[in-house]
Amino acid sequence: MSRMYFSYVWLVLPALFCWERAAYGHGLLLDAQILERGYAKIPHVSPYNIADYHVREADSQAVIADYCRKVSQEFKRYGWEDNPCGEVQWSADLQTASGMPLIYASFGSGRETTLFMGGVHPDELSPIQLAFRFARYLSNNPDLYQKQGLRVVVAPLVAPDGFFRDRPLRTNGRIDVNRNFFTMDWYDKAHHAWQHRTAGAGRYFPGYFPNTEVETLFQVWLVDAYTPDKLFSVHAPLGFLDYDGPGDQKPSHLSRTEKKAKQYVYEVSKQTENYRVVDYSFYPGSLGNFAGNERKVPTITLELEATNPRGVHKYWEKFLPGFVRSVNYPFRRDHRPEPGNASRFFAVYDEVFLKLQRMGLSLN
Ligand SMILES: [Zn+2]
Repeated sequence: MSRMYFSYVWLVLPALFCWERAAYGHGLLLDAQILERGYAKIPHVSPYNIADYHVREADSQAVIADYCRKVSQEFKRYGWEDNPCGEVQWSADLQTASGMPLIYASFGSGRETTLFMGGVHPDELSPIQLAFRFARYLSNNPDLYQKQGLRVVVAPLVAPDGFFRDRPLRTNGRIDVNRNFFTMDWYDKAHHAWQHRTAGAGRYFPGYFPNTEVETLFQVWLVDAYTPDKLFSVHAPLGFLDYDGPGDQKPSHLSRTEKKAKQYVYEVSKQTENYRVVDYSFYPGSLGNFAGNERKVPTITLELEATNPRGVHKYWEKFLPGFVRSVNYPFRRDHRPEPGNASRFFAVYDEVFLKLQRMGLSLN
C-alpha cells in the first residue's frame, strides 16, 4: 500500500480580512503581507494528489482481504458474528486518508442499475451490518438480478475511517461526507445551514469547500461510472423513508416519469410494513441534493429507527423485502445528456491518471 501524503491548501482566515478592512479601509493586502499573517493547513483531495488515494490494481485484492479482516474484528465488537465480506467479489480503486480501501461490488450485467450504500455516517452502526449482509445476499441469490436486465452496485461502508475508532464518528475524522458534495447551493448555504440547523457542531462540518473528501469523490465516482437509475442509502436513527428526485415536493401535476419515480419510495414502504415516508428537505452538500435533486436520480434515504447494533437481526427481517424492492422496482432514467450539460465530473481525474501513465508513473 502506498504511503499517504496529504497536500494542503493555504487558507487565509476570513477573520483576518475583516480585521484588515477595519484597519486599512481598502481590504487589500499585498501577497507578502498576507503570507506573514495567518494560514491553516487543510488536508483535501484534488487532481494533484488523487494518485495518493488510488489503490493499485495489482495490490487491490490483498488490500481488500486485509481490510475485510479488520471489518470482521469490528463486527465482533458489536456482537455480529457473520463474516462481513463473505464470498463477494469486491473491488476498490480508491482508499481513504488512513489507507482503508473504499470497497464496492457490482452484481448483474443489466443496464437498469441501482446503487445501494451504507456507512456514509459510520457511527450509525446498524446500516453497516445490513449493507454488508445485503451484498452477501445478492451474491448468493443471482436470480434477483441476473436474467432481468438488472445491475446492483453495493458500497457497504462509504466512510470507514470513522468506523475504526473506539467510539465511531459521524465524520471521516474531519468532515461530514454527506454535506461535502458540490451542490449548486453549497457556497451560498452550506456553512449557514451548518451554523443554524446543526449549531455548528463539528460532527456536521461540511468542509471549508466542497468535494474535499475522498469518500465524497468515491460516491461521485460511483454515480459517474455506473450512471444509476436509482439510489438507496441506509442511515439511522430517524425512523423514516425520505425521497429526493423527480417529482419531489410536488404534490400535483406530476409528469408520468415523475409519478413513476416518486412511486419508488411508496413501493419500498409497502414492502416494509408501510414504513413512514416523509418529505424531509435536503441539506446543501448532501447526496439527496446532489443525486436526487440536481441529477434527477430517484434517491431514497432509509433511516432505521435505531443505530443500536443489537437491532440488526430484527431490521434484516423487516427491511430485506424493501431492499429487494429497491432493486427490482422498474425505473429507467433518461440518460440523454441535457444540452449544455457539464462533462462527467471524474473526467478531470481521468486526465490526471492518463498523464501520470504517459510519464511512466503507471498506477495500475
Ligand atoms: Zn446519517
